[in-house]
Amino acid sequence: MATRTAKCVCGQLSVAVTGEPSGVYACSCKSCQRGSGSVFSYAAVYPISAMSVSGEHKAYRYTSDSGRWGEGHFCPTCGTNVFTLLEIQPDDVAIAAGCFADASFAPPSLLCWASRRHAWLKMPDVTELVDTQPD
Ligand SMILES: [Zn+2]
Ligand SMILES: [Zn+2]
Repeated sequence: MATRTAKCVCGQLSVAVTGEPSGVYACSCKSCQRGSGSVFSYAAVYPISAMSVSGEHKAYRYTSDSGRWGEGHFCPTCGTNVFTLLEIQPDDVAIAAGCFADASFAPPSLLCWASRRHAWLKMPDVTELVDTQPD
């Protein structure tokens, strides 16, 4: 089975995951814009049981545009958010896909909160735009 490792910028925090993600998503809600410092978050969802974390991490719980909480786990040294737990999916973890630094990683199948995306943003044909988010 494939093993991939997501790392923070300084390398202190790393998360290894085995197997393929159950989904790859982007989200341009305001929390994701601010949290990523970019125009959308890009995350790969795995079962929590497929994840092994090494290094220190701190957590910050926020309320997303959906009204549900998300809990970002980040490196206390460099501040990179490497993984996020979500109220809506208690058995899963969303790994920040950019932290794999793998240019061949799958594109997102959905862009959630597309209604809040930047006007200049064009997504690939394989990415379905969803105005809010799926239930
Ligand atoms: Zn770090
Ligand atoms: Zn979001």
